[in-house]
Amino acid sequence: MAEKRPAKRCPLCSSKFISSDLQGLVEHLAQGIISVYREIQNIEYKVGTDNPIACPRCGHTRMSSKVSRNALSRHADIQICNTCGMDEAVRDFAENVLPITSWWCMREVLSHTNPSEQTE
Ligand SMILES: [Zn+2]
Ligand SMILES: [Zn+2]
Repeated sequence: MAEKRPAKRCPLCSSKFISSDLQGLVEHLAQGIISVYREIQNIEYKVGTDNPIACPRCGHTRMSSKVSRNALSRHADIQICNTCGMDEAVRDFAENVLPITSWWCMREVLSHTNPSEQTE
């Protein structure tokens, strides 16, 4: 009897990995970053803030602290700024979708350096 290989599970969220290659890993991490980012947004919407967290797609600090004043992304279960909402609509029409892995928050998180290591 052939030994069954254990299913590859993510140690963070314990969901199954769809792919074990690097691209699959990055896409899985992207979903995780979106989930955490959405939690931060939800807390902000609940408590209200004068400085809402930046738009996860473009990084601009023009999101509203009112949930109804932002746009829901067509490609990820998260709110984005209205400018990005329009950009998604235009890109969808042109079939030129911006991959989630190219969103500002992904680039920011994946290239983050320790502030103490940064030189002025
Ligand atoms: Zn995971
Ligand atoms: Zn945006």
